Amino acid sequence: MSDGIVTRFAPSPTGFLHIGGARTALFNWLYARNRGGKMLLRIEDTDRSRSTDEAVDAILDGLSWLGLTWDGEPISQYGRVDRHREIAEELVRRGEAYYCYASAQELDDMREAQRAAGKPPRYDGRWRDRDPSEAPTNIKPAIRIKAPREGETVVRDLVQGDVRFPNADLDDFIILRSDGNPTYMLAVVVDDHDMAVTDIIRGDDHLTNAARQTIIYKAMDWDVPSMAHIPLIHGPDGAKLSKRHGALGAEAYRAMGFLPEALCNYLVRLGWSHGDDEIISIDQMIEWFDVKDINKGAARFDIKKLEAINGHYIRQADDQRLVDALIGLLPEMEGGAWFLDRMTAERRKQLLLAMPGLKERARTLVELADGARFLFIEAPIENEDKAEAILAEGGRDVLRPLLPRMEAVEDWEIETLETLVRDHAESLELKLGKVAQPLRAALTGRTTSPGVFDVLWVLGREESLKRIRGQTA
Ligand code: GLU
Repeated sequence: MSDGIVTRFAPSPTGFLHIGGARTALFNWLYARNRGGKMLLRIEDTDRSRSTDEAVDAILDGLSWLGLTWDGEPISQYGRVDRHREIAEELVRRGEAYYCYASAQELDDMREAQRAAGKPPRYDGRWRDRDPSEAPTNIKPAIRIKAPREGETVVRDLVQGDVRFPNADLDDFIILRSDGNPTYMLAVVVDDHDMAVTDIIRGDDHLTNAARQTIIYKAMDWDVPSMAHIPLIHGPDGAKLSKRHGALGAEAYRAMGFLPEALCNYLVRLGWSHGDDEIISIDQMIEWFDVKDINKGAARFDIKKLEAINGHYIRQADDQRLVDALIGLLPEMEGGAWFLDRMTAERRKQLLLAMPGLKERARTLVELADGARFLFIEAPIENEDKAEAILAEGGRDVLRPLLPRMEAVEDWEIETLETLVRDHAESLELKLGKVAQPLRAALTGRTTSPGVFDVLWVLGREESLKRIRGQTA
């Protein structure tokens, strides 16, 4: 289906692409893909003191990593200030806006008086109907919108329903500052109009802005785009999501070893659902996503759930892809340098061979790396306490007579090794685990690893025997 919709993602480049922004981008992207439309990208960089090029790069990188492609070139809002000014002046010509010469001091006094009288601080419209001939020549004016004073402004929101704002609460806000710079309120409307945006999907912290923006659209006789304000993401404790809860940038999730499709799957379920489905592929998301199914209630961020979903995607992922993803991640992963220093062509191969066993146990690529640690260590192996206890408490005695039998093995294959170890256990009248456990401890220095026969096989004959010798000597 193609009904030509246009959505946009409009981040302010004052920081990384945080989890809430990533979800907003995902929803816009899915909606556009679902309708055969476009998603545009607008960088809202008008706040020069807070916008940085690094943040722009981090946002573009984050989107690209998640696979959230935008159509056309990113648009810089700051690059459009002339157009914003032009519309502010056009609104004055239309009688929908006016010059306000009130000084900062005057406005402060006005608000102070309102507060003292127990009223909410609002611009009182003192220049609204004043004759331009009264304008002082020594003050540069701001431009204010002539907002309606009676009735209400209704935001027809696809998620929240009709949200009504009494116009008495919306004062004549500034659209062009006295220094000639547009306000965010004006810039967003002009840009969305010029970019032919048909659908705005963004956080519900912009709902009140939506009412003010609606006033500007009407003043220009422009069509108001469809709007969907999505509930913000909260922490597991119900409080607004903060860094403490995981409000980190996309790059932080990459460094923690999450796969992009797992993060998308987790994010799409934060505030949208399709029946009880938990695992939803990108293609299914595109097929099923509809703004009208966005939940009204705030979603809660739960890192455990994200890890569980990531584990699912890791288990499903192609082995070679996981090897590449893991190696690609090492430079930015905590402790990754240790692996990189030891990365040989041989170990790359072993990593691939071990992957079927490794990926069963890992919820993140970081855990995957940790599981693969046994491939990178060298004799003499430093045993973890539990592994050393197993070896000390009889384990070595079990392994000593096994060693010559293993040394005699020529075809180092999983089945041969398994038959031999089983036979050894039987001959000592022990359960298989009583041999397998010390064997694992000797080979890896740990009590957990992929299956011990896989470990023997992946390490190969020479390395395995060397490790067992080292641990039993
Ligand atoms: N730049 C705004 C933000 O990052 C979004 C504005 C909008 O979507 O209209 O919150």
